[in-house]
Amino acid sequence: MDLYEHQARQLFEEHGILVPPAEVTDAPGEARGIARRFGGRAVVKAQVKTGGRGKAGGVRLAEDPEDAERTAREILGMTIKGHPVRTVMLAQPVDIEAEFYVSYVLDRAAGRFLAIASAEGGTEIEEVAAARPEAVARVPVDPAEGVTPEKAAEIVRTAGLPPGAADFLVRLWQVLIREDALLVEVNPLVRTAQGQLMALDGKVTLDGNARYRQARWAEQRISHEDPLEAAAAAKGLNYVKLDGEVGVIGNGAGLVMSTLDVVAGSGARPANFLDIGGGASARIMSDGLSVVLSDPGVRSVLVNVFGGITACDAVADGIVRALDAVRPTKPIVVRLDGNNAARGRAVLGGLAHPLVHQAATMDDAARLAARLAHTS
Ligand code: GDP
Ligand code: MN
Repeated sequence: MDLYEHQARQLFEEHGILVPPAEVTDAPGEARGIARRFGGRAVVKAQVKTGGRGKAGGVRLAEDPEDAERTAREILGMTIKGHPVRTVMLAQPVDIEAEFYVSYVLDRAAGRFLAIASAEGGTEIEEVAAARPEAVARVPVDPAEGVTPEKAAEIVRTAGLPPGAADFLVRLWQVLIREDALLVEVNPLVRTAQGQLMALDGKVTLDGNARYRQARWAEQRISHEDPLEAAAAAKGLNYVKLDGEVGVIGNGAGLVMSTLDVVAGSGARPANFLDIGGGASARIMSDGLSVVLSDPGVRSVLVNVFGGITACDAVADGIVRALDAVRPTKPIVVRLDGNNAARGRAVLGGLAHPLVHQAATMDDAARLAARLAHTS
């Protein structure tokens, strides 16, 4: 789960990392007052979960409160890399003397963390790494030892960071460990004209598997999350929104993943990932169908079930009851195979629902769903 910059900042602050004073708003009128409180000038920053906001015009310096209101209104009207800007953060401007880059990322293959740091911060680190790989230091961190003052000193030395950055690095490691993050990134970490080290931007990715022991995540949970994903989460469904037109429902993450591929191979784009798991009860099926069908982008639905422990006739019963509850208006292609497939198909065949089509194989089902998506 990625956090917004303003949420990442809050975690930094709680662990003793300096950040400029800032406030978040969704109302341009409020931006004026905030800028006034900061002495007139303010950096207005789009709060979207994507990088490169600066280049996209989503980070701008406002010269006075009136300018702050105008700038906030403009940025609140933007969509950056497909992310509509719903809030802006206004930060008190800082006199930057130098910009650095630091992050900790999980290196799954090595079973360790990696400290990545560079004295050339500010721009995207991928660009620095591509142009001058020697300017980006990569120091392995053993998770059991963590970033000790000695390890921090090693990172500082290797990357050519200012000496004061060692304390910063130890604190940033505390953010990663205490908050159960998989990634923390500060770009830029700046040295101000007054000689302080400050985090001017922050990205934090929390480990969803640690949710059970992070009670405060309930409040951190983002109100602007995709509404369909929020609805699915409320129903306990394993749903990820995508951009296409064929809704996909299947049992088992692997099967659903391959179904997405087969849909794409049939010339259509999947509208979502939805794994209904092993049970596939009538309730789960109708919850799943109602979420997928309420996506305005969906033009057809592909239900791909391989009966294992769950028999296909039970799944077919679930679909029949779900159709009763949901009353679909878009075509649904069902492919049943595996345990009791013949009985399951007979149940759906007997239903003779005008919007329900059956297909014998996954490929047939995907082709039919793609065709229906383009003609319905
Ligand atoms: P990003 O483009 O999404 O990474 O957004 P950032 O928050 O990193 O902002 C982009 C750039 O704007 C930074 O690298 C800084 O150079 C500049 N910037 C951001 N905040 C401030 C600030 O408070 N004062 C000054 N002078 N520049 C800032
Ligand atoms: Mn940045």
